[in-house]
Amino acid sequence: MLTYVVTIAVAAALVTLATARLTPVEVRHWVWLGALSVGALVHMEAARGIERIREISSEGVPHAQMQSVWQFAGVLVLPMPLLVMLVLAIYLHAWLRVYKRRAVLYRKLFSAATVVLGCAAAQWVLAMFSATNPAELDGPRGLLALVTAGFLYWFVNYALVVGAIVMTNRTNPIRTALGHASDVLIVTASVGLGSGFAIIATARPWLTPILLLTVLALHMGLLLPQFRVAARTDSKTGLVDATFWHDVAEREIARARRLVSTVGLMILDLDHFKQINDTYGHLAGDRVLRAVADALKHAVRSYDLVGRFGGEEFAILLPGVGTDEVVATAERLRFDIARLEVEVIDRGGETRVITGLTASAGAAVFPDTATELSPLLLAADEALYHAKDSGRDRVFSA
Ligand code: GH3
Ligand code: MG
Ligand code: MG
Repeated sequence: MLTYVVTIAVAAALVTLATARLTPVEVRHWVWLGALSVGALVHMEAARGIERIREISSEGVPHAQMQSVWQFAGVLVLPMPLLVMLVLAIYLHAWLRVYKRRAVLYRKLFSAATVVLGCAAAQWVLAMFSATNPAELDGPRGLLALVTAGFLYWFVNYALVVGAIVMTNRTNPIRTALGHASDVLIVTASVGLGSGFAIIATARPWLTPILLLTVLALHMGLLLPQFRVAARTDSKTGLVDATFWHDVAEREIARARRLVSTVGLMILDLDHFKQINDTYGHLAGDRVLRAVADALKHAVRSYDLVGRFGGEEFAILLPGVGTDEVVATAERLRFDIARLEVEVIDRGGETRVITGLTASAGAAVFPDTATELSPLLLAADEALYHAKDSGRDRVFSA
C-alpha cells in the first residue's frame, strides 16, 4: 500500500516537472488561475456543510468531487504547473475547512496526486488533438477531443482511487469499492460544466459569473435535499434520528481508530418531563422539546452531531473530544437548558413561560470507556441512570 501511494505521488511530481516547460506561462494564465481559484473557493465555502456529510458517508468508497468543475476548466486553460497549483489550493482548502484536519493527510495528498495525473492525461489528449486552448476546440474533432479528455480525466483518477480502496479494505466486496453510479453522474456533470466554464471564460469572460451561479445552485439544490432525506431528520425537533446518528457515530469511531483520536458521546435526558406534559399538555411539551433541541444544536460545534434518540432523550457525538471536555460540554448544555424560557400555550389557551428545566446526562469516551459503539452507548446510558438515581440535574461520566 505504501509503495502504491508513494509511487503515485512520485509519478504526479515527475509528470509535473516533466511538463512544466511545455507551455510557456503567460500573464493571462495567472489571471485564469486567480479566477478559477476564487471560483473554487467561493463554491467550496458555500457547499462546506454538505461536503462534510458527503465525506463522512463516503468512507471506503470513491467520493465524487464537484471541484472537478474548476479542475477540468483548469485542464482546458492552464499550463500544467499552474494547474497543479490550482489542485493543491483546492485540496488545501478542503483540508483546512472541510475535513478540519481530521482526515488522514497522506490520503488527501494521494487524492491530489491522482487528480494531477488525471489532469495530465487529459492535457495529453488535448495536445494529441492539438487543441491546447479552448478556441481550438471546435467541430466534431473538438467534440471528440473534449469527450476523450474528460473521460481520461475521470478514469485515471477513479481507477487509481479504486485501486487504493481495494488494497486497504481487502474484505470489502469489489462492488463497494467501485462506488455509486450516481457519483459518476456528478463527475460527468462537473466535467461538462468545467468545459463550459473554460470556453465561456476565454470567449466571453464577463459572462462567467452566470456559470458560477449555476455551479453553486446545482450543488446546493441537488445535493442538499438528497442529504436531508438521507439524514432522516426528526420532524418534531429538526435533529437527526437515531439510525442516522448511529451511522455517523460508527464512522466517526472508525475514523478516530485510524487517526488514534478520541470521540466523546453523551446521552442527555430531560428530568421529570412527564410533569410538563401533565401540567401544560402535549403540545406545550413538544414546544419545549423543540427549544431544547435548538439550544443543544447551537451549543456544540458545527461538526458535532445532536440526535434525538426517542422521547425526550438526546444523543450527542463530539469527535476529537476527551473525557474532561465531554463532561465540561455536558455541564454547559445542562446550564443552557436551565436558562431556557419557553413560551407555550397551555391547555386553557393561555400563554405561559416554562423555565427551570433540568436535564441529566451520562458521558462516555472512545477509546477510554470502550472501543465499540454499543458498549459506549450502554456505558453512557448506565451513567445517565446513576445521574438520575443520585438526584437528577447532573452529569455523570462512565
Ligand atoms: P426522568 O427522566 O427525570 O426520570 O422523568 P421523565 O418524566 O422525564 O421520565 P421519562 O424520561 O421516562 O419519560 C419520558 C416522557 O416524555 C414520557 C412522555 O410523556 C414524554 N414524551 C416522550 N416523547 C414525547 C413527545 O414527542 N412529545 C411530548 N410532548 N412528550 C413526550
Ligand atoms: Mg426524562
Ligand atoms: Mg426518557
